[in-house]
Amino acid sequence: MQGTLVKMRTQLDSDNGVQYHLPIGEQSLHLNPLIGKTLTLNFSGQIFCCHCGKKTKKSYAQGHCFPCMQKLASCDMCIMKPETCHYDQGTCREPEWGQKNCYTPHYVYLANTSGLKVGITRHSQIPTRWLDQGATQGLPILKVANRQLSGLVEVELAKLVKDKTQWQAMLKGNADDLDLAAQAEHLLPQIQAHLTDLINDKGADSIEVLNSSTQAIRFPVSEFPKKVKSFNADKQPLISDVLVGIKGQYLIFETGVINIRKYTGYEVTVSVE
Ligand SMILES: [Zn+2]
Repeated sequence: MQGTLVKMRTQLDSDNGVQYHLPIGEQSLHLNPLIGKTLTLNFSGQIFCCHCGKKTKKSYAQGHCFPCMQKLASCDMCIMKPETCHYDQGTCREPEWGQKNCYTPHYVYLANTSGLKVGITRHSQIPTRWLDQGATQGLPILKVANRQLSGLVEVELAKLVKDKTQWQAMLKGNADDLDLAAQAEHLLPQIQAHLTDLINDKGADSIEVLNSSTQAIRFPVSEFPKKVKSFNADKQPLISDVLVGIKGQYLIFETGVINIRKYTGYEVTVSVE
């Protein structure tokens, strides 16, 4: 199969297992049955912008050409730091996109990746966000009216727990199970004053405390690596190795790992032995 890569599509099966499909151009490769087999990725060196399709020498913001990276609201810094949303100042790069994607309910969640973390995501991205991050557990704790609000709450929670995943640790194994509901009960009272301020400012229905149950997630990994070495497709365009697992957006091979999302827009030929 030959074509350009985009991030792997994930799906939870009835057993809380993650099913992975790798899109390659117009085609798609179901990866779960390939664990234990030799997978070859041969990168051609060509990169095509995932937005406009034009050829680009370098990939910016996970698969964009430079002009698209500068122009698109989805590539703006406020997407990484939602609390810095500047829509109200009239400076959103694409106000219509902002209305559709940011002025929509968001969740603040707790997850277990390399340990406890807090994160935010759009309502439609649960559980996808957790699968992409390699979380073995996820629990939405608050539903808020828009993206900026989710960022303002996350900033407060991030003073108490991590908001980042240590990806090497996440790939070396599964962290011990956590009682996320108990963590939420412990954390939320500590930010209650901030939540009250935000509710007073934005309206009574802008923040809702949820009473959800924890989602358990199982990744298809037959063997975790003891050391995590990253393959760099820019320097080593031919990767051919036995696939031993998949977690988050990483393919785990016997001798290294590769973050597929990082290579969005890269042209590749994939074969299986
Ligand atoms: Zn472009």
